[in-house]
Amino acid sequence: MAEKIYRVNMTNLTTSTEPVPDKWLGLGGRGLTSTIVAEEVEPTCHPLGGKNKLVVAPGLLSGTVAANSGRLSIGAKSPLTGTIKEANSGGTAAQMLAKLGCKALIIEGLPKGDAWYTLLISEDGVTIQEEQELVGKGNFDVVATIGKRTDEKHGIITIGPAGEMKLSAANISIKDPDSHLRSSGRGGLGAVMGSKRVKCIIIEPTDAKVEIVDQEKFTEANRAFTKALVDNPISQALGTYGTNVLVNIINEAGALPTRNFTSGQFDGHEEISGETMHDTIVERAGKPKHNCHKGCVIQCSQIYNDKEKKYKTSGFEYESIWAMGADCCVDNLDHIAEADHLMDDIGVDSIETSVAMGVAMEGGLLEFGDGEGICRILREDVAKGTPLGRIIGCGAASVGRAFGVTRVPVVKNQAIPAYDPRAVKGIGITYATSTQGADHTMGYTIATNILGVGGSVDPLSHEGQVELSRNLQIATAAIDSTGMCLFIAFAALDDEKCLPALVDMINARFGADLTADDVTNLGISILKTERAFNEAAGFTNKDDRLPEFFYEEPIAPHNVVWDIPDEELDKFWDF
Ligand code: SF4
Repeated sequence: MAEKIYRVNMTNLTTSTEPVPDKWLGLGGRGLTSTIVAEEVEPTCHPLGGKNKLVVAPGLLSGTVAANSGRLSIGAKSPLTGTIKEANSGGTAAQMLAKLGCKALIIEGLPKGDAWYTLLISEDGVTIQEEQELVGKGNFDVVATIGKRTDEKHGIITIGPAGEMKLSAANISIKDPDSHLRSSGRGGLGAVMGSKRVKCIIIEPTDAKVEIVDQEKFTEANRAFTKALVDNPISQALGTYGTNVLVNIINEAGALPTRNFTSGQFDGHEEISGETMHDTIVERAGKPKHNCHKGCVIQCSQIYNDKEKKYKTSGFEYESIWAMGADCCVDNLDHIAEADHLMDDIGVDSIETSVAMGVAMEGGLLEFGDGEGICRILREDVAKGTPLGRIIGCGAASVGRAFGVTRVPVVKNQAIPAYDPRAVKGIGITYATSTQGADHTMGYTIATNILGVGGSVDPLSHEGQVELSRNLQIATAAIDSTGMCLFIAFAALDDEKCLPALVDMINARFGADLTADDVTNLGISILKTERAFNEAAGFTNKDDRLPEFFYEEPIAPHNVVWDIPDEELDKFWDF
């Protein structure tokens, strides 16, 4: 099916289908969302106003059988950071949109009245329908209600109550193959969808297939690519323990931010580790290994059941477990799972919200370690939109201001995730310089600094950190455009057959003749496009800094501060 751009104007409630302009043909995923946002959104606009646009795009390989290629990118100007933003996620939507020929969906404008809307995407295009039944519902209820209204096969992209309230930590949830949820978590994109009063996007299944120019070459390349993924030892560890395999590793490295970033090690790390989680899942008849979308061969996701062996949460990630666990000193995995479930249902980013809880604990809202108290506040305040709930639901910086706390771990207003930059300098460079605020996925130097993938760079030294972060940020921008899950990077860095096979698949899909250098150049051009948007929005090098306390407070066990000079950080953009 020929690819198209679907455009929805919420101001006058009209839709159109447009041919893909030549300049966008070679783009997908983050490359496309960031390009469209940079071309069509005024950088200084209010993120929740009529000039912002929400752009949804499957990756270049989404909808094909390429392993791990089902990521969906969503972009806009972020209400949390004020920068350009892309957040991607698994689930069924990317593959379904790609099969419908939807290269990108652009939602623009704001409706005039108080009504809410659902968008229905099918082979005939997009239709806008007024929505009443789903309004106010949590994400799990939305998925169940649409399941009854249509059938279990429809794709769903939705916001929870947090998105409806336009909270800056609101995420966008995507239905996975088991009708559970995956999240485009970071940067408050759910608030942008809420500002447009779109509660939900429903995607009709189709029998259409994505066109492949050279099927034989594609199949052969996918075989080599899949082998590289399944043979990789880190892929295998992810398949056994999930991303939560990292709790013990990062604790051992002294980089597990604990008690609102006051230590690098957590006494309760064993209780919340991937190993404990794995045994608990097996004991309770959950699934230790699970796909967030069809075709994933790594399967880092899982299904975590409660003590009664009933579903509690899935996609139970290291960063969420760290944030609610070590950072808030909660050593009870069931309390963390309950909080994860609640955050999925309310539709808030589990990193932002949990780091906000850690800051609130320091501000005296709750005792550190009070997992039940966190769940109570999520249920009674954040879900219901009380003034306290709205402060927490707008993120860590919002809580820091409201409670007068100065130890607020954010860059460009976005919460720093699960790796302390004082103990792993490379990831600090990524947090500081990323075009999207603090985000480990933008340039995951942990791979090299801690896991020894793609070489080795001492995490505590200054040497080579800027170059490492830059190379990984470039590679990540390119990977995020293909629709590939970022966890292919471990095999791509360590197996010489992996990256050429990925390039071969892109060439076979489009009849192109790209080289690995072309893919690198794509990553560079995406970063520069994003940086230019941020500069036009008013950001300068002075925003590429970590918070003051990292420079002043040494962290145990290494007793180190953040000591990369500002001039070194500023060299990041010399390319
Ligand atoms: S490895 Fe994990 S995040 Fe990546 S596609 Fe598979 S289940 Fe999803």
